[in-house]
Amino acid sequence: MTTVPTITLNSGHAIPQLGFGVFLVPPAEAEEAVSTSLEVGYRHIDTAAIYGNEEGVGAAIAKSGIPRDELFVTTKLWNDRQAGEAPHDAIRESLEKLGLDYVDLYLTHWPTPEKDTYSNAWQKLIEIRDAGLARSIGVSNHLPEHLDRLVKDTGEVPAVDQIELHPALQQRDVLEWGAANGMHIESWGPLGQGKYPLFENPAVVAAAEAHGVTPAQAVIRWHLDRGFIVFPKSTHRERMEQNFDVFGFELTADEIAAIDALDAGDGSGRVGAHPLELN
Ligand code: NAD
Repeated sequence: MTTVPTITLNSGHAIPQLGFGVFLVPPAEAEEAVSTSLEVGYRHIDTAAIYGNEEGVGAAIAKSGIPRDELFVTTKLWNDRQAGEAPHDAIRESLEKLGLDYVDLYLTHWPTPEKDTYSNAWQKLIEIRDAGLARSIGVSNHLPEHLDRLVKDTGEVPAVDQIELHPALQQRDVLEWGAANGMHIESWGPLGQGKYPLFENPAVVAAAEAHGVTPAQAVIRWHLDRGFIVFPKSTHRERMEQNFDVFGFELTADEIAAIDALDAGDGSGRVGAHPLELN
């Protein structure tokens, strides 16, 4: 059985560096997809209330018989529940759907800065963690200005920021903030969501050929070698297996540098929403 390396978060809890994401996995298919991923060996599942598939994730976990402490489950607070006491209701609903007593990681999904409720949401996540309903807490899609505000308001640094991160969009300002403050980075859309020809890029193809792996495996390995936490999505068993089979090789410093150099630098590599524009 493959042992996935873990990263210790600022909570003291360890997260498997490679997991399985279920964005856009329809509710009816989530149970089967997560069951397959658990058979393949994944033990870290990344879902969110807005994905609408927490029940399927929970059903797969329950059926698997895998001890709770061998699993790492992340879910996220949706944007319309950041105000007032709503986060407390939201986590209880998520736990009910997941069939769990606690999640390993609970994240606020987007800062939605115009609403100006993300700092309140962060304070509620601290309470949720202190109440034992989440082992670790963090954020998603937060820019340095949002992270600064959270620390100013609460003194607490998120365990992770889950951001869009793939070779064409490397968000170096967020990476630097994380490195300076002991916050780890989770890469969402790690394969660029298939929205640009990443797998045909010469730097990616060269790294893949040098190690006898696929371009997708080379890119996942780049995330791991850069120290990011990553959870590519696929509903096909073969791809789930391929994406999990990334521990038999490491990229060289030159191969990593060649992929690092693919960052568009000006944010134009973004394939998803901009955090300042999603409100
Ligand atoms: P991804 O970059 O993982 O791309 C997924 C797509 O890549 C699949 O649909 C498939 O078409 C393709 N793919 C997967 N494995 C492949 C392989 N081996 N070979 C060729 N193609 C392959 O994008 P994602 O699903 O958006 O991101 C991963 C996870 O990140 C999500 O499932 C979710 O958990 C999380 N996420 C979070 C946010 C957020 O706002 N916090 C947003 C999007 C995704």
